[in-house]
Amino acid sequence: FDRAFQMENIDEMLVSLDVGGLGLTFRSIIQKAFASRFLDPVLCKSLNISHVKGMVLHGPPGTGKTLLMRKLVDLLVAVELKVVNGPELLVKWMGESEQNVRRLFSEAIRDHEVYGDESPLHIIVIDELESIARRRGQSIHSEMQDGIVNQLLTMIDGFSSMNNIFIIGTTNRLDLIDRALLRPGRLELLLEVGVPDERGRLEILKVHTQSLKETSVLKPPFDLEEIARLTPNWTGADLAGLARSALSTAIYRTMESTLGKIDKERIKVSQADFEFGIEERTKNSAIVDKLVN
Ligand code: ATP
Repeated sequence: FDRAFQMENIDEMLVSLDVGGLGLTFRSIIQKAFASRFLDPVLCKSLNISHVKGMVLHGPPGTGKTLLMRKLVDLLVAVELKVVNGPELLVKWMGESEQNVRRLFSEAIRDHEVYGDESPLHIIVIDELESIARRRGQSIHSEMQDGIVNQLLTMIDGFSSMNNIFIIGTTNRLDLIDRALLRPGRLELLLEVGVPDERGRLEILKVHTQSLKETSVLKPPFDLEEIARLTPNWTGADLAGLARSALSTAIYRTMESTLGKIDKERIKVSQADFEFGIEERTKNSAIVDKLVN
């Protein structure tokens, strides 16, 4: 993790971890959320520094929020990690969801009781945070939903003096999250993961064509920069899908020419397969847009 903090070229390191175009966000996370944790605890105490307790990564679907979180926690050594999907915590029986929320933090609390400031850091990742953190008083199932938010607030406030917990929430509906959760001392750090620009798309495409390149399945000449230019507003998930569909097109073509027998050596994904995928997706989007409007 120290290494990640000092990395001159964070973008390259992230591409090697299969993440493209999120270097700036990654750097912000490390600087804003974790920098103080590198300091000597005695110094922190004397300067009265309290660490950031939590953050929310927000942005449109498919932009890599979950991916980035998972890679970030992979880089952290000597931490206890718990990853949950918000909806997993929801149980229809009164009080059970609150109990699940309490359980989420129980190991960290126990470790703090046993080890105090020497406790390992517990990172708790809650994907789809909006499912358990909805603005109170606004949901149709409001009594149950409000109870969960209240429990979450109680837990977070309860460990305000503990330094061994860090909560990461991800959501594509920041607007739905209860504001009280986002106050200082709670999930105070908000970072947006937006739709990638052309450079970001190029990095993401590099990630998703790496294995095709390494196995010589990608047929030269291949201009990734052109593909990045042709895909404005595409997210990482869209680009991952594009690489998958280009490979399927190439496999299908090979099967046709070999009468159904797949000879791996003969599968070649070309620039045209990617461009065909872009056209298909553009047509599909137009159909979906018509449905929506
Ligand atoms: P949601 O808000 O819908 O949960 P998300 O922002 O969490 O979406 P992910 O689930 O992380 O998006 O992304 C889905 C998939 O898209 C990833 O598993 C990965 O294959 C691809 N992807 C998305 N963003 C990137 C990226 N920046 N680099 C490489 N791959 C990406």
